[in-house]
Amino acid sequence: MAEKAANTVETKTAKAAETSKGLGIDDMAVFCKKKGFVFPSSEIYGGMAGFFDYGPLGTEMKNNLKQEWWRFHVQSRQDVLGIDGSIICNPKVWVASGHAEKFGDVLVEDLKTHERFRADVLIEEALRIHADGLSPEDLGKLIKENNVKSPKGNELSNPRQFNLMFTTNVGPVQSENSKAYLRAETAQIIFSEFKNVYETGRIKLPFGIAQMGRAFRNEIAPRHFLFRCREFEQMEIEYFVHPDKKDDCMFIEEVIEDKMNILSVDMQTKGQEEKNISVKQALDKKIIQSPWHAYWLAKELQWFARYGANPDNLRIRQHGKDELAHYSTDCWDLEYRFPWGWKELEGIADRSDFDLQQHIKHSKKDLSIYDEETKKKVVPHVVAEPSLGVDRSFLVFMFDAYDDDKERGNIVLRLHPKFAPYKAAVLPLVNKLESKARAVYDSIKEEMTCYYDKSGSIGRRYARQDEIGTPYCITIDFETLDNEEITIRDRDTTAQTRVKISDLKETMRKLINDEIKFSEL
Ligand code: ATP
Repeated sequence: MAEKAANTVETKTAKAAETSKGLGIDDMAVFCKKKGFVFPSSEIYGGMAGFFDYGPLGTEMKNNLKQEWWRFHVQSRQDVLGIDGSIICNPKVWVASGHAEKFGDVLVEDLKTHERFRADVLIEEALRIHADGLSPEDLGKLIKENNVKSPKGNELSNPRQFNLMFTTNVGPVQSENSKAYLRAETAQIIFSEFKNVYETGRIKLPFGIAQMGRAFRNEIAPRHFLFRCREFEQMEIEYFVHPDKKDDCMFIEEVIEDKMNILSVDMQTKGQEEKNISVKQALDKKIIQSPWHAYWLAKELQWFARYGANPDNLRIRQHGKDELAHYSTDCWDLEYRFPWGWKELEGIADRSDFDLQQHIKHSKKDLSIYDEETKKKVVPHVVAEPSLGVDRSFLVFMFDAYDDDKERGNIVLRLHPKFAPYKAAVLPLVNKLESKARAVYDSIKEEMTCYYDKSGSIGRRYARQDEIGTPYCITIDFETLDNEEITIRDRDTTAQTRVKISDLKETMRKLINDEIKFSEL
């Protein structure tokens, strides 16, 4: 039977934490459902915890977000190639990577209600310390010493490891031999395809392989709407470098003056807050050790800022020793100030040559590459693995775009035009102007997603578009019939300007691509 949906969004919890805009995660879930961005999955049957369906607007926006990520990280670079791997693959991939044996979280049970929780999350919430990566024994000790109870105030069981991999069976005969896994991350497919991409891609070190797609984790306690789901999407890059050239980052000048909010291990130990410093300072003071790591952290921040995320709500936080995987020399999380606190949005780890070496060992295939310079074979190192969740990014852009504009009396979703589900809405002032308005709509609908709306007062129609993030409204009035001009209204300022219908398509293209500002029209 389907698990009762923890993510049903009909009722708001009283203690929903709030952002600086007064908007909690449950409010966001309600808004997303009401406007057709995201629905709880299979809600007519009571839902399914940790699963969501993107609605008409959410699908458009998510596709736009993914497209712009791909353009920025793959299509506009010569050193990154993309793949699109299968969700189910030979289970040996997951044995080699270590997922089959120990990809999991530590679980504790409320001894009275039998509800299950992630031990590290309970401890983080109760004691305000980072507990991710601690062993069941260490978590058990913390629970005992600090008398941590379940959210309902009951005793907790001893913590134990819980594997998050979903299993399935492949083929008509179901047995232990037909068992397979749904991928828990997209990264391992990159490693198993490494040699194929290298040999066909005509590429030299340093280079990256990118992939976006679905991942599945049987999360112990999915919650906070899209933040922690059991089915979600990732956008990941494995960036490979020569092991002897881990510090040669030829792109560092692109980001050297960029500023970021940084919270190093040292600062965390001293109880300090994040500091806004430049990449140059962070490298000079050895706060960030590797130029490649600094480069990718800055690049990721650039991407978020370019598409409308507020840099004040983003910071990079270094992992402490307890949080680091045993093979990782350094890891930084890009964190976002969610309504319930700073939380991971993207992990950017140095994974050394761990994964390739594991796949060499288990597959017995040679995954090294020939280095022309030294005339030797090398196994490249992953100096940075930017690993980002699509759904968490979706939330970030929604939170930072959401503006309850009291003056206007409606919500204005200030999405970047590239991310907006509809780029424009065509609105005839009165019904008599319908045929002209339809002709305008038909002239642009193949160039951009466009909404046609003839019902309600013009003010109400503007408000409806503001609420779903449409950056421009195109109004057809009686003058249009005489002079072939329409009015474009800018969502962010409500300013209006007249443009010839013959120039409309080009003007819209320039506005959406940031080639001109509305005020310059
Ligand atoms: P967390 O500590 O929050 O469980 P993680 O460290 O396990 O995350 P990674 O394995 O580093 O996450 O995955 C990379 C990215 O994938 C995360 O930064 C996040 O954006 C996304 N992600 C991971 N798990 C989930 C999930 N259950 N639901 C939605 N997105 C997720």
